[in-house]
Amino acid sequence: MKVGFHVSIHGSVDNAPDNALELSCNTFQIFTRNPRQWKTAPIPQEVAERFANKVEKFDLQPVFAHMPYLPNLASPNDDVYKKSVETLTSELQRCNQLKIPYLVTHLGSHVGSGMEAGFGRLISGINKALNETEQGVMLLLENTAGTKNSMGSTFEDIQHIIENISETDRVGICFDTSHAFGAGYDLRTKDAVGKTVKDIDQIIGFSKLKLVHLNDSKGDLNSRIDRHEHIGLGKIGEEGFRHILTSKLGQVPLIMETPRDTRRNDVDNLLKVKELASS
Ligand code: ZN
Ligand code: MN
Ligand code: MN
Repeated sequence: MKVGFHVSIHGSVDNAPDNALELSCNTFQIFTRNPRQWKTAPIPQEVAERFANKVEKFDLQPVFAHMPYLPNLASPNDDVYKKSVETLTSELQRCNQLKIPYLVTHLGSHVGSGMEAGFGRLISGINKALNETEQGVMLLLENTAGTKNSMGSTFEDIQHIIENISETDRVGICFDTSHAFGAGYDLRTKDAVGKTVKDIDQIIGFSKLKLVHLNDSKGDLNSRIDRHEHIGLGKIGEEGFRHILTSKLGQVPLIMETPRDTRRNDVDNLLKVKELASS
């Protein structure tokens, strides 16, 4: 089983593999930069090499990078949209430099301009960024919880984007369990998990699934709320995660984006996952 966390790059990006190893991960996810700013500095080549060497030495592939928070690839605002596509292009390049094979992106918000306008922005922005970067990094489209105006809360919507990408083999998906549950995909019973897995397979194709964001949910089924919870302590619950982890989803790399608080630490979330996966 490949399982890890979103880890910090505090100090320097090449500290991340050490942080992952310390948590006993065999995969991890990072932001390649401060996710709350538009501007970023280039990664010095020696830092990128140190990062890639540690990933190899500690046997941590596949590594995942996540797009920063500010970009909105579905934005109707020209300035925000332009900066968002530039950020996507630059993140694809930074992943190439760091030898990170997968970049996860959210699908943004149409901010009231409507789904059709949002799809148009997303599709042309992703095509442009892929066209301007070398091959080697796969872009993973992440499902969302379906908060107001957000894009990509159903498998049909994600598939609509994928089939309009010119280089289809350069895009895949990231399935977030907390977001899916918030968007109305039940994951609490064996049958419900089976149905959701079947939907992924029939609508998108299971081979497109390269990453599962393994998070419990503070919000109820179909609540459209995006609030993550520790594994088993939320509305999906231990039983749900037992069925998730023993289904085909448990064979895909798993990254937790669980809260950082005093109720439970990362190591205990990892132990809980291993316990449920083997039960
Ligand atoms: Zn995400
Ligand atoms: Mn996620
Ligand atoms: Mn989330």
